[in-house]
Amino acid sequence: MLNKQELSDRILVQEHFAKEHLPGALDLQKQEEYKSRIRQLLIEKDACLVAHYYTDEVLQQLADETGGCVSDSLEMARFGNNHPAKTLIVAGVKFMGETAKILNPEKRVLMPTLEATCSLDIGCPADEFTAFCDAHPDHEVVVYANTSAAVKARADWVVTSAIALKVVEHLADQGKKIIWAPDKHLGEYVQKQTGIEMLMWDAACIVHEEFKAQRLLDLKKVYPEAAVLVHPESPDPVVELADVVGSTTQIINAARDLPNKQFIVATDRAIFYKMRQAAPDKEFIEAPTGGSGATCRSCAHCPWMAMNGLENVLHALEQGSDEIFVDESLIDDARRPLQRMLDFSAQNG
Ligand code: SF4
Repeated sequence: MLNKQELSDRILVQEHFAKEHLPGALDLQKQEEYKSRIRQLLIEKDACLVAHYYTDEVLQQLADETGGCVSDSLEMARFGNNHPAKTLIVAGVKFMGETAKILNPEKRVLMPTLEATCSLDIGCPADEFTAFCDAHPDHEVVVYANTSAAVKARADWVVTSAIALKVVEHLADQGKKIIWAPDKHLGEYVQKQTGIEMLMWDAACIVHEEFKAQRLLDLKKVYPEAAVLVHPESPDPVVELADVVGSTTQIINAARDLPNKQFIVATDRAIFYKMRQAAPDKEFIEAPTGGSGATCRSCAHCPWMAMNGLENVLHALEQGSDEIFVDESLIDDARRPLQRMLDFSAQNG
């Protein structure tokens, strides 16, 4: 049974989907035409393509081939920060483009579509979050990267799933009380692993929230030798069944390093492209999703990530459309907790 908050989040997300359109499928010849034009424009415009693991494999391939980057949001931020290109094309969701802009205000940041957002970002409006933080002024504010620039600007730390445990432990060692936002499942996982109590915001990823523990148990019976790899944005009963819990990069590394030949994977299925590259002789199986009340329009694949395609990458390059602008009054305040994460990550491996 969904509670009132979950119901209203789902209605909000469904309303958002109703207005959006996914890119259509292109035949191979068209794909080649688009790719060739994009390659040329990336050079002409001194631009670089940075793509998330959850985007279509054709974009991941193109980013790799053209000297860009395919990664998780932490590495995307780092890469964009270090790359000399004047323009960054960020294929992913809006908070990733904003993060690139905050770290590189002098660069032009374009996205295939500004409509690609994230249920965690939607579920944490800046005004409500600011009021929540103001009500607990003695707490250190830790926010997940999947938030707007305005929410980041209210935070002391930004974290990604790759580094959340280390940052929270570091703060607790200093005796800090912590506010965690917005992903409640990742927050619960961090609490359970560290034993550190946090004040939690209540939002979730609509993709990972759909993974189902009972059906995963059934699938494990079909593939008894498979290792289960789970992203910690998934609900706790699913995380409990994991052999490895980790960020996207940690999941890819586990597929490469573990001796198992089969893996059941509870994260966006677009990651299979990189997993197959890392471990070509292994088999990857989607963890089960769905069930009553599901909002996920394309289960095990983020509908906002799916809005990125060759057509709108080309359009952004040709027209300079869908540019990211971050309010100047927010940039310094939003950069501080992001830079803190990057520095912490550099020092702590
Ligand atoms: S997969 Fe989930 S966390 Fe990632 S962008 Fe989509 S909705 Fe947000």
